[in-house]
Amino acid sequence: MTTPAEPAPPAAAVPSGGIPPARTPAGLESPARPSAPPRQRRAWHAELAWLPGRGVCSDVLIEAEGDRFTAVTPQTPAGGLPADLSARLTRLPGLTLPGMANAHSHAFHRALRGITQVGLGTFWTWRERMYEVAARLDPDSYLALARAVYAEMALAGITCVGEFHYLHHGPDGRPYADPNEMGRALITAAAQAGIRITLLDTCYLSGGLSRRGERQPLAGAQLRFGDRDGEAWAARADALGADSHGLLSLLARAGAAIHSVRAVPLEQMHAVIAWAQRIGAPLHAHLSEQPAENEACLAAYRRTPAELLYDADALGPRATVVHATHLVGRDVELLGGSRTFACFCPTTEADLADGIGPARELAAAGCPLTLGTDSQAVIDMFEEARGVELGERLASGQRGHFRSGELARAATTDGHASLGWPDAGEIAAGAIADLVTVALDSTRLAGVTTPRTALAKVIFAASAADVRNVVVGGADLVVDGQHRLVEDVPAALRAAITAVLS
Ligand SMILES: [Zn+2]
Repeated sequence: MTTPAEPAPPAAAVPSGGIPPARTPAGLESPARPSAPPRQRRAWHAELAWLPGRGVCSDVLIEAEGDRFTAVTPQTPAGGLPADLSARLTRLPGLTLPGMANAHSHAFHRALRGITQVGLGTFWTWRERMYEVAARLDPDSYLALARAVYAEMALAGITCVGEFHYLHHGPDGRPYADPNEMGRALITAAAQAGIRITLLDTCYLSGGLSRRGERQPLAGAQLRFGDRDGEAWAARADALGADSHGLLSLLARAGAAIHSVRAVPLEQMHAVIAWAQRIGAPLHAHLSEQPAENEACLAAYRRTPAELLYDADALGPRATVVHATHLVGRDVELLGGSRTFACFCPTTEADLADGIGPARELAAAGCPLTLGTDSQAVIDMFEEARGVELGERLASGQRGHFRSGELARAATTDGHASLGWPDAGEIAAGAIADLVTVALDSTRLAGVTTPRTALAKVIFAASAADVRNVVVGGADLVVDGQHRLVEDVPAALRAAITAVLS
């Protein structure tokens, strides 16, 4: 893939009928999303804001019309503004960032939080617990769980999620009446939680590769993941109904994923890659998360997973490899040279004992970095961002690999671009009007903060709980720590997870 993603069309060109009627479980009715009426004008005054090319600036007047920023003006004290502007001004004390993009999520893994920490275990025993949860979900419980998880993400400042979705069919592998019912549940969940989603519909055809390179059939919970072959996957992905720009609605976009070289044979990858190229969609893949995957791939193909994806024409500026933990030098060259995004998920990679990937090497070679909460061990983009730098420090015995701005860019601009939203993730005129404000007066962050230190302080010390306000498409989603659409997020999580585990 060699051409960059096409920019999203203006909001007016987006069809409104892309999302099917929500199948809302009893008790989960959500109020209508308070989307900004067309051309509504809004203005915010940020005490501090991180701006592209300028760093953190003080007294920033941010103006929007509809879902787009129209002007961003630093050094504008609120006291000196005209009365009509002052009257409709929303003040944002603290540090304001663009909306953050969670580039790699499996929403249902949230039900495993805590459970998999009891006793001892390995990556593979963790996977067995994950399969147990996967076997229990149906479209209604999937929607309720994802809605609560996406609301948790919104509270953490995540305004866009890349959902790596492979839970396609019924528990015995038989398709639902609408074979995309589970995917549509995720799109509805994101809409009800008020955030953008790129549905990375994932091709998952085989149960794995043995260390000797022998392919294993799908079994047990994996039966739900599988389509007959790559062409059947593409036909189902087509039926989602994306427009020629890949959009499913104003807040939802279609993407593709190859689960891994373990789960998709080379000859079946081509249909997925061709589908993504045809509509200019993002294409993601897990890559080299565990050494066992590399061994099996070498045995089966005499190539590393990165070499295999390169030879299949899967890499490029619309592609993302997730984890990229166990690489050799040639892998780094192929990924960097093709400008493939590398998505790091440091809290999951630590939780699953995956290892520490070569983030600095990949960035230096040309890979833009992105961040994901993956298994939802925690949902905190600041922790993911600093995890990249702290991992490098632990591995190298040296400090100072990434500047705070580089880590913030991974969480915002590059994360959005990797999910097919290149016009989001920056506070700049013309960009999508998403904002996240972090309070600087919490117990964790209180002290002296200057424009020079604010971003580093937030990246290295803030938690998701310090997010105070979130704006999506010019409309308030979180106000003073309160989600506007999901009234009680902990209660929603508790109910949804109880329903799945009981
Ligand atoms: Zn994953």
